[in-house]
Amino acid sequence: MSAAAYDLVIVGGGPAGLTAGLYAARAMLRAVLIEKGAVGGQVLLTDWVDNYPGFPEGISGFELIDKMAAQAARFGLATRLGAVTAMELGGPVKRLVLEDGGDITCRAVIIATGARPRQLGVPGEEEFTGRGVSYCATCDGPFYRGQEVAVVGGGNTAVEEAIFLTRFAAKVHVIHRRNELRATRILQEEAFANPKIAFVLDSRVQRVRGGAQGVEGVDIRHNDGTERFLPVTGVFMLIGTRPNNDMLPLAELGADAQGFIPTDGEMRTRLAGVMAAGDIRSKAVRQVVTAAGEGAVAVLAAEEYLHHSG
Ligand code: NAP
Repeated sequence: MSAAAYDLVIVGGGPAGLTAGLYAARAMLRAVLIEKGAVGGQVLLTDWVDNYPGFPEGISGFELIDKMAAQAARFGLATRLGAVTAMELGGPVKRLVLEDGGDITCRAVIIATGARPRQLGVPGEEEFTGRGVSYCATCDGPFYRGQEVAVVGGGNTAVEEAIFLTRFAAKVHVIHRRNELRATRILQEEAFANPKIAFVLDSRVQRVRGGAQGVEGVDIRHNDGTERFLPVTGVFMLIGTRPNNDMLPLAELGADAQGFIPTDGEMRTRLAGVMAAGDIRSKAVRQVVTAAGEGAVAVLAAEEYLHHSG
């Protein structure tokens, strides 16, 4: 019907994009998945995934992604490496511009570009990511049974996850840059009442220190100028999430104040033929299993759109 090269382009190769790719390939759509680097996404930030069903012993984030990619490839999913820099999504033929200057046309798009944790940007943070520095308490908390850990941040995520971490850790130190938390009062009260949580307010982490075994502690600078070393084996950076949305027409998609993309329950954005799945969506729960489920739903919505617009 149109001159579009593909029925469907999936942008992003994390769990949402790879599951969408699997479903699109099995549906025999003319589809391609575009990923800017290696496939994977945020799940690669965690050593071990214990909460993805089907793997009773758990599985490494790397291996899980490897299996997802292999499964999609078995059904012939085409993938293309390259960064999408712009998208024209308004009309019946969508156009995606690539970093190398080329472009791809298609009739439907699934945006699965994901999100990334905000980084603190201190020395040692990158070096010890996956070896004591974590951005996901749900994923990595159980590894710190009986140990002392630090949480950086004072918002709902930081305080909620600090409470979650007390299930495992002997002590959780919440380090926050102001003397007042941002989290809602009810969460604050729950945290204040928890004997395993200690607050280090008016303070900033200056450096993560460690050795061959991983993190050994953090250097803290208090706002009054004094400094100290806090010995911990885990540091959870929970200072917010940033959507990977640089390439998206945010106003047209009706992005929320944080830049995430709203969809309906079928993963349809407000632009016809454009779906979003996974962490880029405006939503509360960001897990591998939800991303995968949304990738599947998005393809079913894309098929329906292609059928009716074809
Ligand atoms: P957030 O509300 O933006 O809070 C980020 C926290 O990190 C703030 O306390 C902030 O400090 C701190 N921070 C940011 N940059 C920092 C830096 N460079 N150095 C040190 N500290 C830094 O993010 P969030 O907690 O991830 O929550 C995101 C959204 O999800 C919010 O709207 C939140 O309400 C919502 N959420 C809701 C629930 C719930 O309802 N149960 C649970 C989780 C998340 P300042 O306070 O000084 O700015």
